[in-house]
Amino acid sequence: MATLRQQIATTALTLTKFRELMKRMQENRPHDDLSIVKKAYDFSLKHHEGQSRASGEPYLVHPLEVALVLAEMKMDPVAIAAGLLHDSVEDTSVTIVDIRKEFGEQVAHIVEGVTKISKIEFATREEQQAENIRKMMLAMVDDIRVVLIKLADRLHNMRTLEHLDPERQHKIAEETLEIYAPIAHRLGMGKIRGELEDLGFRFLDPVGYEQVEKAVNARRKQGEAFLEKTHKLISDKLKEAGIQARVESRIKRLFSIHKKLQKQRISVDQVYDLCAMRVITRSLQDCYAVLGIIHNLWRPVPGRIKDFIAMPRPNFYQSLHTSVITEDGTPFEIQIRTEEMHKMAEEGIAAHWKYKDGPVSAQDEQRLAWLRQVVEWQRDVSDPNEFLSTLKVDLYPEEVYTFTPKGKVVVLPRDSTPIDFAYTIHTEVGHTCVGAKVNGRMVPLRHKLHSGDIVEILTQPGHKPSRDWLGLVRSSRSRNKIKHWLNVHQRERAIEIGRKLIEKEARKYRIALKEIKDEELTRIASGYGLGRGDDLMAGIGYGKYSARQVLARLLPAGATPSIAGDIEAEGLTSGSIASAVRRVFGGNNAITVRGQGDMLVYRARCCNPIRGESIVGYITRGKGVAVHSANCSNVTNLLYEPERKIDVEWARDDSTPTAYPVKLTVFCDDRFGMLKSITGVIGDAKSNIRNIAARTENSQASVEVVLDIADLKHLESIIAGLRKIAGVHEVQRLQKI
Ligand code: MN
Repeated sequence: MATLRQQIATTALTLTKFRELMKRMQENRPHDDLSIVKKAYDFSLKHHEGQSRASGEPYLVHPLEVALVLAEMKMDPVAIAAGLLHDSVEDTSVTIVDIRKEFGEQVAHIVEGVTKISKIEFATREEQQAENIRKMMLAMVDDIRVVLIKLADRLHNMRTLEHLDPERQHKIAEETLEIYAPIAHRLGMGKIRGELEDLGFRFLDPVGYEQVEKAVNARRKQGEAFLEKTHKLISDKLKEAGIQARVESRIKRLFSIHKKLQKQRISVDQVYDLCAMRVITRSLQDCYAVLGIIHNLWRPVPGRIKDFIAMPRPNFYQSLHTSVITEDGTPFEIQIRTEEMHKMAEEGIAAHWKYKDGPVSAQDEQRLAWLRQVVEWQRDVSDPNEFLSTLKVDLYPEEVYTFTPKGKVVVLPRDSTPIDFAYTIHTEVGHTCVGAKVNGRMVPLRHKLHSGDIVEILTQPGHKPSRDWLGLVRSSRSRNKIKHWLNVHQRERAIEIGRKLIEKEARKYRIALKEIKDEELTRIASGYGLGRGDDLMAGIGYGKYSARQVLARLLPAGATPSIAGDIEAEGLTSGSIASAVRRVFGGNNAITVRGQGDMLVYRARCCNPIRGESIVGYITRGKGVAVHSANCSNVTNLLYEPERKIDVEWARDDSTPTAYPVKLTVFCDDRFGMLKSITGVIGDAKSNIRNIAARTENSQASVEVVLDIADLKHLESIIAGLRKIAGVHEVQRLQKI
């Protein structure tokens, strides 16, 4: 418990800061209602009471300093209030619900965003990872004020970093240089970026920092004298020419000098251009006039004149840059820009985000068009802060940034599902993926992922990918992996089918396939232009060659079947496919379809259509006719060629009761009696349960059940019944069994 004296000291300190904040806001935004800021201050005062920072200062100083940085950016009262409250959910007993109740939706939304970002673990440090995190942070927040508060927060933490232990200092400084300074740069906020970089450099590489600092200090006097002289010279010349402009001079920032040393591989002694000048004009025309005057004074270095006014940088930075050489042979850089351009370069605004380094693609061009439009809007809005507060961040509309439970960022195309995520982790994880948890909750495999989601993939050894996954995935990587797997395994299956067909045919001659020598098979295979016996079997399985013809080549001439021919087989191997389809679906029950289906007509395994469902036939390449459900994604996505579609219908004959196995997944609460309710509904519908398995986690469950279903109506009534059970969130039919 703080002593009374301490409490008084705390109050005095924070009150001074608060008054400073209010004063700054009244200056910047004289017409704003600041009551929400006062309220946020009182609220934080109460909830951070007794807390102190590593520096020993009362904790409240931190949110106040953050709010002051935001006030400097001329942010609105909502952002300032959110800044004051930004650590309250993380560090006190306050919840988002409390904030929403007290301060309304906007403040709560922003505080929630800041809290969310604070929770991200920056686990690995690869360059790509850092870039992804930067992108993700911009993509996952939908209010730019979240990012600005996070930057202000980081700035104050960096300013007070000396109070932490070296290990923490190193980690935070590294994160600042890798994540936050580049974000400030992307947002065009040159001033904050510069300070973040210098502070980051100082704590990440104290030895290097000291070296550069020493070297710069050794030359500081000389440099300042030079700057003073040059400053006067330029000012005089401008006055002579009748140009009103402001001249600024500075010693360059330590981090930028350090980077130059690294880039040019030179030592500190060899850095000559520590000094830089800047001329800030009243008009665009004056910029070019000043450039002329400068080049009259000193000789320009060829190739160093850059016109970023005519060709703005991707973050909309505008300026003229030139390097000139003084009488004594020292080159130095001069930047020339208007007040407006200067303001943008220092502070940046949301409209000045940088998109990407490197060449501009057609996609980037589109984004830039969007950006230009945003800039146009901004001109119409009288108050740029109003613009800021209404702008939604949509920088990377076609990507989502998700996490593994260990904090690694996984970048996926928009609308990706857990299957895409699984294949990105590892091919085998993809193949054996049976479910997923997103932010701790079980979700169906077709669940669409969002930026910031933490995704955990559930796998089951031996599980296999299914064709209907092709309709669920978005990334070409997963698509290719699934297709590849299907192709390989389809061949295996074709070989198996081919073998069975040959065996069946051979039985008619009372021969077992075993009796046929491998060399014989290879010989026949080569007669078909194939290398191995397996290729021949696969060919039969795919329906390219008839088993009967192949067998005829194997048998001595004149061999006759022991039974006079198999009418059914005859019917299926001759005549048009269409007539076979009609026969199979018309005359026989579903068992026949399945028995012979491997060869000619079969229910597609990707969607397992059941009686009553509208169906469509598809002529496969040599495997007969696959019957799909009409809404099977493989058919609707036109993964198949449309001209191969063929009309099929269910037989009218329902005298033979059939039982189609159908797999359902029930997503539900893990509560007592749930399983009983589920099996009850199924039992009441007179359906047989073939298999049931449940998975539970965090009081959520997913129950997979394989049922015998008579027809579509039967299935629909069961699903409706399951959905009525209290605590059942979703019932999903898995096409593949
Ligand atoms: Mn903070």
